Amino acid sequence: MRFDVLTLFPEMFTGFFSSSIMKRAIEKGLVTASAVNFRDYTTDKHRTVDDTPYGGGSGMVLKPEPLFRAVEDLRREKTEAPRVLMMSPQGQPFTQKKAEELSTVSHLILLCGHYEGFDERVREHLVDEEISIGDYVLTGGELPAMVVVDSISRLLPGVLGNESSADEDSFSTGLLEYPQYTRPAEFRGWKIPDVLLSGHHRQIDEWRRQESLRRTWKRRPDLLDSANLTEKDRAFLVTLLDEEPS
Ligand code: SAM
Repeated sequence: MRFDVLTLFPEMFTGFFSSSIMKRAIEKGLVTASAVNFRDYTTDKHRTVDDTPYGGGSGMVLKPEPLFRAVEDLRREKTEAPRVLMMSPQGQPFTQKKAEELSTVSHLILLCGHYEGFDERVREHLVDEEISIGDYVLTGGELPAMVVVDSISRLLPGVLGNESSADEDSFSTGLLEYPQYTRPAEFRGWKIPDVLLSGHHRQIDEWRRQESLRRTWKRRPDLLDSANLTEKDRAFLVTLLDEEPS
């Protein structure tokens, strides 16, 4: 999987690409990642990437030419067409489902905006989709791009140490994950649930499923509408109806 992030601040990605799981994924050759400064694709003496908005108003708008040149340059390098994602608060909300879908694409180009954002022709003629990481406005697209790259990378086979750990995460099953505990079994008088010490794997699985259902019902009941539920799950949820969602 290859990620090319087009940004005016490539230095922001140095720590991200060289730490933790991203670092390991890159070292193992499972991920190729680069931060490309699209200022390098300007042709004027001042290396201009932005200009004032037509029609007036505050702020600066990113010019189309450097971005088109940068993407076209990257497109030339590969036979398979990369998918171009624009980081934008106006885009589709980013979800685990979208991360799963994008993890099947072999080459992604992510455009990070700044200032007032991009000239509309970038959106119309260069970009395949716009992605928002939430209903709030950040100063730039770098943090959203890191969010997108991180969430996709951890889904790629071999990236996480334990292959099954991404399958049980919140949202992957359509539900929130069950509570997790580690040693000590008792801390400041707070004990872990007995079942986790029982050694009965079937009972542990059942407890986890029920806690996952309970947690989802309490915190994100909206997720239950589209979750894949068995008859047994539904019967358990009925027993929770007296418990208020919180
Ligand atoms: N004027 C734009 C608007 O109102 O839609 C906001 C521009 S924002 C200050 C600058 C850049 O930050 C955007 O072009 C985008 O790349 C990025 N950005 C800000 N918030 C974002 C979000 N919630 N999700 C994804 N990208 C975001």
